[in-house]
Amino acid sequence: MNTIENIKKFISDLTGNDVSELDKETTIFELGIDSVMMVNFVMELNERFGVEFTLNDIVFSYNTLETLGKEVDNRQQEKSVEINYKKDVDRECSIYCEPEVMSTQLKNSNLLDKQTLNNSALTTILDIVRSQEQTMERVFKLHMDMIKYAGAESGLESIDANKIDDSRINCTTEKKHKENTKIEEGGDVELSENTSDIVLTSCQMEMVQGLIQVMNEKMKESKSVVDYERKELADLDESAGFSKLLKELHYTPVIDYASGSKFTDIDGNEYIDIAMGFGALLLGHSNERQQNVLKKEIDRGFQMGARHRLVGKTAQLICDMTGFDRAVFTVTGTEAVMCAKKIARTYTHRPKIAIFTGCYHGHYDSTLATKLSFSNKIVPIAPGISEASLMDIMILDYGDMKACDEIREHKSELAAVLIEPVQSRRPGAVYKEFLQKLREVTKENGILLILDEVITGFRCNNGGANVLLGIDADMCIYGKAISAGMPIGVVCGRKEIMDHADGGFWQFGDNSYPSVEKTFFAGTFFKHALSITSAYEVLNILKENNNRIQDELNDKTEQLANNLNSIFGNFNVPIEVHHFASLFFFSAQDNNPYMDIFFYKLLEYGIYVWSGRTCFLSTAHSDDDIRKILEIVEKVVKDMVNGGFWKKNKDNVINGMKKGIPSIVFEK
Ligand code: PMP
Repeated sequence: MNTIENIKKFISDLTGNDVSELDKETTIFELGIDSVMMVNFVMELNERFGVEFTLNDIVFSYNTLETLGKEVDNRQQEKSVEINYKKDVDRECSIYCEPEVMSTQLKNSNLLDKQTLNNSALTTILDIVRSQEQTMERVFKLHMDMIKYAGAESGLESIDANKIDDSRINCTTEKKHKENTKIEEGGDVELSENTSDIVLTSCQMEMVQGLIQVMNEKMKESKSVVDYERKELADLDESAGFSKLLKELHYTPVIDYASGSKFTDIDGNEYIDIAMGFGALLLGHSNERQQNVLKKEIDRGFQMGARHRLVGKTAQLICDMTGFDRAVFTVTGTEAVMCAKKIARTYTHRPKIAIFTGCYHGHYDSTLATKLSFSNKIVPIAPGISEASLMDIMILDYGDMKACDEIREHKSELAAVLIEPVQSRRPGAVYKEFLQKLREVTKENGILLILDEVITGFRCNNGGANVLLGIDADMCIYGKAISAGMPIGVVCGRKEIMDHADGGFWQFGDNSYPSVEKTFFAGTFFKHALSITSAYEVLNILKENNNRIQDELNDKTEQLANNLNSIFGNFNVPIEVHHFASLFFFSAQDNNPYMDIFFYKLLEYGIYVWSGRTCFLSTAHSDDDIRKILEIVEKVVKDMVNGGFWKKNKDNVINGMKKGIPSIVFEK
């Protein structure tokens, strides 16, 4: 089999698509490899073929079967030459060590005279060292690309900074200018031949440049503040998903004040906020009841250290509403995940935790991993994450019943199965049966089932997805909505499990004591006065309303999603809005760079979506807000179609083959 055939086989294994009949000019984007798979695709390609490509290499330079095949051949040959070369040097010098040691030994040896040493052996060694450095650089670059594509949290590929140099844009603009005579007529506009290369047509460029100009004028202050403060403030939010083309738009609005469903930036622009604090602001910005209790709490003095008067009552409310026995508080969802895992290990005396592809559980090392599908090797998703921290996790495929077999197989070492009941990047995909099956299998094998409801908890229902979907998990993790904007994380569970957090129940006046084996976690800001005060009020609001708040919000979101989908359908634009409860997500199958532009256009007209693109409605969103959202989205779609984006029909079909899952793992 030649290399192209081998690559076809590899892609077929990876995507499940039959690609045998495709010609060599087909791009990998047409093969059902989406932005998430792309990261794995590169890692696995490297592993399978013993080469070292970066993500950018593949996306921008070797993206057809033919170019990729040739480059794989080249790199394999280079590598074998390199290896042979190294062998020769080893043989001649009998050493392969630090350059200084090597040069001393070489100098002392009779093998080579000085001239030869300088000109040949040393140069060769240095070449090898350099090549190793380059390899390291490439590996590092791949990781950085992964952060950009995945950790950047958008799941939306950006136009590559290095690829679109000015000369290329100009060149394409020139070339395409004549072809795009229809621009002025506002008709269909041909895209550049090489759509995968993300070269914009003159018509598209014109629109993007106009957008940049308008936004830079509109958000002058925000832009200059972000720019000025960058030197001291290292802020991933301001560099996530960086693209050279959209560089001048790479700043977030700096908020001056916020109220209800909206905020105003320091330039005086008002936005309808559909990021809603990454899902935390269930009751909108500055909910009156919440604000009142917080103001009063500050007036009572900043208490820290001794027990807050509402902390136990808040735990009681949470347990009452979720049906669990006991709760512990942390500051963030990430910490709550860490605690839950420790409690589960202590309870079961087993080391491993199973997590799932496509789930996000915060920024704790041992969940930031991905699995290579050929080797099943678990690797960190970013530099700085130690491989050792991944020793105790297993990664299973979300929604795949085969996961149950793997759980059974590893039952003796599995403490818990940790899963998002609904993934924030795929809110339309609710695998109720799968979750129930997981419940069954874990129960049968004494493994704990932990639902990470940091996003879904209290947002979809007072009992979270656990109650809504009838899962009956052993433990649940909450955050975000429970305190409606104040920092909090909560772990809840059955008594016999949660007792491992504090040694269990004991009381005065008898011989009881905290007798249960306990793990350790503690935090200066755990049970923080303001977070607890806020959570207590929010929980009371939700309880008083007996799920009416969430039911209404869920209906509103469903209607919004349907109406948005009608707009996209009417314009034949390959975007679909999926939702679960009041979480919704604009899914795009391909042409992802256009999505960046789409979201900047929303911002231009006054809708704010954060870079991770998970969207939320809050109780503060009025019918008028919803109407405005629909009007703005329609306006943006029209502008973009007239600007030459998403020419009719063609762009949203990937050779009639299975489309990749439009999801991404990471988010705030
Ligand atoms: N779990 C899930 C499902 C999340 O979505 C998040 C963050 N959005 C976390 C855990 C981590 O929470 P935090 O950002 O509060 O640490």
